[in-house]
Amino acid sequence: MPFSALGLSPALLAALRERAYTSPTPIQAAAIPAVLQGRDVLGSAQTGSGKTLAFALPLLQQLAQAPAATPRRARALVLVPTRELAAQVGEEFRHLAQQLGAPLRVTVAFGGVSINPQLMGLRGGTDIVVATPGRLLDLIDHNGLTLAGVQVLVLDEADRLLDLGFAEELARIRALLPARRQNLFFSATFPPAVQALAQTLLQDPLRIDVLPAAQDQPDIVQRVITVDAGRRTQLLRQLIAQHGWRRVLVFVATKHAAEIVADKLRKAGLQAEPFHGELSQGKRTQVLADFKAERLSVVVATDVAARGLDIAELPVVVNYDLPRSPSDYTHRIGRTGRAGASGLAVSLVSAGTEAHFRLIEKRQGLQLPREQVPGFEPVDSAPAAAPGTGGVKGKRPSKKDKLRAAAARQP
Ligand code: AMP
Repeated sequence: MPFSALGLSPALLAALRERAYTSPTPIQAAAIPAVLQGRDVLGSAQTGSGKTLAFALPLLQQLAQAPAATPRRARALVLVPTRELAAQVGEEFRHLAQQLGAPLRVTVAFGGVSINPQLMGLRGGTDIVVATPGRLLDLIDHNGLTLAGVQVLVLDEADRLLDLGFAEELARIRALLPARRQNLFFSATFPPAVQALAQTLLQDPLRIDVLPAAQDQPDIVQRVITVDAGRRTQLLRQLIAQHGWRRVLVFVATKHAAEIVADKLRKAGLQAEPFHGELSQGKRTQVLADFKAERLSVVVATDVAARGLDIAELPVVVNYDLPRSPSDYTHRIGRTGRAGASGLAVSLVSAGTEAHFRLIEKRQGLQLPREQVPGFEPVDSAPAAAPGTGGVKGKRPSKKDKLRAAAARQP
């Protein structure tokens, strides 16, 4: 089906041609006509499915067609879980509005940076606000913005919004919105809390489940290498050198681990930087820009980076620490193999995390062969850490414990 069958304006069709997008993705094909008709939408779609344009295109068309009753009063509100996603989605709206030649103002608001420039920016009014919930409420509390004129609410990555503890903020925001509005709700997963939120928020929504068809499945090769926990950094260095990986996103369990692993890799001569929620926004933006521009070859990240980031052609993702949940596994490996490119996801599994990885495999319906790298064959046998992530404080064996265990293994 061509884009032209969806009811999009000639100007938007031209913008899509300029991007060389030939046909809509399944979520776009289903959502765009429904949104244009004013329906509520409940979309289940994985990252990389093209869901941003599935709501951005029809929303822009609606706003461009209907002039604002009160000029410069927010008419569309897009809530996203992370700063990076806010910046990414906001950029998409701005770019499209520019291509449309529509005088629509887009405001991007997220925390971690000074609120003043955002308040100043709002003085001239706005049409579309893309925001994280906390900062949005701050702006409202500072009288920088009112939501009384919002006609369309978009919740992007609703599961992640709830995971990150934004339930209270969402309830407050909701109370400030007019009762009559269109709601677009997107989520990759639907645990009970997300279902409950969708049920109370949406009215007679069109439910769109985009189960990736076989040919649309991201082409991600998943490999599992067993290695002792203490030798993972060394193995990672060897893998990077051996395979000539130019850009690798490495996931760890904690901010501390991100700092330590990045530091070790830097000392080994690699261009590596940590990426986690405690870095300043400026630093995070810089790291992402450097990574995209290939000035960095390794980014060591916590799960903050697992969703929403769209780094084109990211060839390799490494699970240095395993994700906590099977759905986090999907989101992490989904950072590679995007938009038709192929990708590689490598999970490092040690004695202490084997049981947890088996659980992830079971939930994903996977059974991956365990590989070993010569020179890195594991010798630890006893589970050394709490399942899954970086382990529980106090439960990790000390250096002494490990020496004792090694001594006990000697014949
Ligand atoms: P998203 O799921 O919105 O994060 O989009 C994933 C990636 O697919 C982004 O890089 C988009 O620019 C790209 N994309 C979105 N729609 C299309 C399309 N119809 N054809 C080709 N690429 C697309």
